[in-house]
Amino acid sequence: MTTHSARGGSELLEGGCYCGYIRYRTNATPSDETNCHCTDCRRAQAAAFVSWFTVPTSRYHLTEGEPTRFASSNHAMRSFCPRCGTTLSFQRNDSPQEIDITTCSLDDPERVPPRDQTRTLTKVVWIELDSRLPVYARARSDG
Ligand SMILES: [Zn+2]
Ligand SMILES: [Zn+2]
Repeated sequence: MTTHSARGGSELLEGGCYCGYIRYRTNATPSDETNCHCTDCRRAQAAAFVSWFTVPTSRYHLTEGEPTRFASSNHAMRSFCPRCGTTLSFQRNDSPQEIDITTCSLDDPERVPPRDQTRTLTKVVWIELDSRLPVYARARSDG
């Protein structure tokens, strides 16, 4: 059942940080929508898990404000609003052609629901996994 029409790939997705300083948009079709339970996401966001989707970097456009970037590990950069702290993106150093965006920084996160759950080996015990979605103990590519 399709309840949203965002799968067409031409529909604009817009979002930004909590305080409104940063705004972005993308007209790409999201891929790799996931709830990530890795320890880096948990600690960087102080959240039990983080929902992400991926788009080509060339289709991710900042329209207002300038995020602060920092190396959250030796293989990736995260960006956040320097005023309110909302995490906006994650980008691996070895794949600069794509960027992960925090689903909940979208104005309408319900348009990009998670399709699976990743890195669940490190999830906190009091989070109940969604039985409707595939589970990957590590990365999706690890099976
Ligand atoms: Zn902000
Ligand atoms: Zn993660």
